[in-house]
Amino acid sequence: MTDQGFSTRAIHAGQRPDPGNGAVAPAIWATSTYAQDGVGGLRSGYEYSRSANPTRTALEECLASLEQADHGFAFASGLAAEDTLLRTIGRPGAHVVIPDDAYGGTYRTFARVHEPWGLGYTPAALTDLDAVRAAVRPGETTAVWVETPTNPLLGVADIAAIADIAHAAGALLVVDNTFASPYLQQPLTLGADVVVHSTTKYCGGHSDVVGGALLTSDGELAERLRYFQNAIGGVAGPFDAWLVLRGLRTLAVRMERHSDNAEQVAAFLAEHPRVAQVYYPGLDSHPGHAVAKAQMRRFGGMVSFRVADGEEAAVAACGRTELFTLAESLGGVESLIEHPGRMTHASVAGTELEVPADLVRLSVGIEDADDLVADLEQALAVG
Ligand SMILES: *Cc1c(COP(=O)(O)O)cnc(C)c1O
Repeated sequence: MTDQGFSTRAIHAGQRPDPGNGAVAPAIWATSTYAQDGVGGLRSGYEYSRSANPTRTALEECLASLEQADHGFAFASGLAAEDTLLRTIGRPGAHVVIPDDAYGGTYRTFARVHEPWGLGYTPAALTDLDAVRAAVRPGETTAVWVETPTNPLLGVADIAAIADIAHAAGALLVVDNTFASPYLQQPLTLGADVVVHSTTKYCGGHSDVVGGALLTSDGELAERLRYFQNAIGGVAGPFDAWLVLRGLRTLAVRMERHSDNAEQVAAFLAEHPRVAQVYYPGLDSHPGHAVAKAQMRRFGGMVSFRVADGEEAAVAACGRTELFTLAESLGGVESLIEHPGRMTHASVAGTELEVPADLVRLSVGIEDADDLVADLEQALAVG
């Protein structure tokens, strides 16, 4: 199916009308087990739903197709996917290079869960290839872990260049593609070995489900991931898998609208006297603009900015919006605003991943752009 267009695959990959009753929408197979024809005689390959479930299979096939991957695995959350991957590729004494502005929960997994078991990690500025080269330890580094664009500073890492550095050192390249979604960027086509998703965000797209996924075309790694997915058991349940699958059907049109709206919001903020700096890869002034343009279809829906009057003014602005809801998370149809320093990134305060105190992060939704700009205008006007 990979020769078909993205939107076609989003709607048809892993999904076909039910052969029995013709239902066009995929079913939610709420079952834990499957009848067998005699001992060991599986009717359809399904045995027990931790190992596999038809609704989850549909999601795994669809996501794999969208990321141009041969194999897909769906999990109960993005962090469950990350944990399964780290246990599959890591071991005591192994080493991983991670972004110096990684998603806070990802950093916490490295620092508080895996590091105590002996997995070493080095945070590096992945926008600086020399910093990546300096952080990689040939023969010792198991993986280079990339987020691009990053959260919350929207840094852009050159996936193909980092793939070369990782592979030269014998390491895998893992890309967390949550912010871009498979519509805007397909890391496996740029040399990555594994793609990680928090499907909670753009893939689900409606702020109604928590989920995660791993995608790879490395057959041997896929076999081990399949084994660990079943052995650890952090799988996506059938209803959650169905919600993400439903979200994927409209991913292409949503990402176009998110990108349109974020471009307008970023342009407005860039001109605003109370805004000190805007972080959006679509702006010509963004240091990663050229790389983003080369590896992404468009620039996505996330915009961050620094408020000129400092931390208290940033916090106050977050409390004054009416359309933008003050909340963590991102990637849904509705616009959200948050203060990373006190909310999503509070867990990295005092570490090398600390974020600026005057930073505000927006997840720009798919409402009318004029209304979103007007809301930000009133929130920034006061005080
Ligand atoms: C949210 C997020 C995660 C974690 O995913 P959950 O679904 O919340 O477990 C990982 N990486 C990035 C970039 C995220 O935004």
